[in-house]
Amino acid sequence: MNDPRATSQVTSAVSARAARLASIPSFQRVEAYIHEFGSRRQGRTGGCDFTFGNPHQMPADRYVNTLRAALTPQDDQWFAYQSNGEAAREAAAQSLRRLLDVPFRPEDIYLTTGGFAAIALALKTVADPGDEVIYSLPPWFLYEPLVLEAGLVPVKVKINTTTFDLDLSAIEAAVTERTRVVIVNSPNNPTGRIYPPELLRRLAELLEAASARIGRRIYLISDEAYNRIVFDGLRFHSPVEFYPHTLLAYSYGKTHLSPGQRVGYLALPPTMPDRDVMEPAISGLQVAMGWVYPNALLQHALPELEQFTIDVGQLQRRRDRLIEVLGGMGYRVWRSEGTFYLYIPSPTPDDEGFTESLARRDVFVLPGVLFETPGFFRISLTANEDMIEQSLPAFEAAIKESRP
Ligand code: PMP
Repeated sequence: MNDPRATSQVTSAVSARAARLASIPSFQRVEAYIHEFGSRRQGRTGGCDFTFGNPHQMPADRYVNTLRAALTPQDDQWFAYQSNGEAAREAAAQSLRRLLDVPFRPEDIYLTTGGFAAIALALKTVADPGDEVIYSLPPWFLYEPLVLEAGLVPVKVKINTTTFDLDLSAIEAAVTERTRVVIVNSPNNPTGRIYPPELLRRLAELLEAASARIGRRIYLISDEAYNRIVFDGLRFHSPVEFYPHTLLAYSYGKTHLSPGQRVGYLALPPTMPDRDVMEPAISGLQVAMGWVYPNALLQHALPELEQFTIDVGQLQRRRDRLIEVLGGMGYRVWRSEGTFYLYIPSPTPDDEGFTESLARRDVFVLPGVLFETPGFFRISLTANEDMIEQSLPAFEAAIKESRP
């Protein structure tokens, strides 16, 4: 019965790498929340879903019409293999030039299946197994699996939890001879912080000096998935403006709140040194990682997709409503500068317990433990207006319950 060989056959069914990935605690926790909250909401109409950056309203007509138009073939190659399509590259480069005032060219753009693949591609372009990747907590919770899958070593540092700014001295102290990459995410998920140009300039100086000190170039991966989701007329600044050894990862999934339509890119600034060796390396990886190019349909749609975004004003109004009402109840809500999120101190140190007390009232948010910063919770502003209004009594009851 209990034949040990049977067990060993089962364990050997998956590679050590896959088993290791599946057992990352932060990854498991996220999966558990998706599953648990998903099943509790299933079949119910009243749940207020503030968990993930998913839409809770019908897509814009313009978005649907753009995809519809892109579906109509204009030649016999319309659905042939597409790699880095010229028209899409040109449209993306033009739009980046406008946004950042950096002279990107079409050949600087490598089209991918969204931000995930752009980050994975960037990591694998510059880092070898065993190299270290520094990023700040709270992070987007899927950096860790992407880093580990590439055979790299995550090195985590804290941010300043008062200003939500990067802690530059913590980054500097984390640099070792194995450091190869620093990931920076602005506008930041989950804090909503947009890092100011002065901070990015100091980060660039730090990385320049640290690279010289360890005798090896440290690359910066700038995760800019939310660079079009910016509030209050603020101007977004990218690390590419300050540090030429930056690889920029972008996703249209945020700009159009359509994360199921996989399209994004990795971009190299025209000032990137070593681009001659990088270009063939990136193109080769795009194929070898499993043809991580966007579908033909999305490539055809991209020039038009570049012409508009979701209603950012609507997200900002939701932010303002929540800041006003939750603030009045006693929550200390930081005024998010962009992204879909508010990252709020939990009224009790036990953020999971607090999250559960909201979930009992059919209001679903994510606890700070998922972002490796207990004591906070995250709200996604992609919840619709009805959900926001319906959730308010639950937020009030939960904060009252948390007080002795
Ligand atoms: N980076 C950040 C900070 C994100 O929040 C996300 C999506 N949640 C991604 C990258 C990946 O974006 P996509 O799913 O569009 O590839």
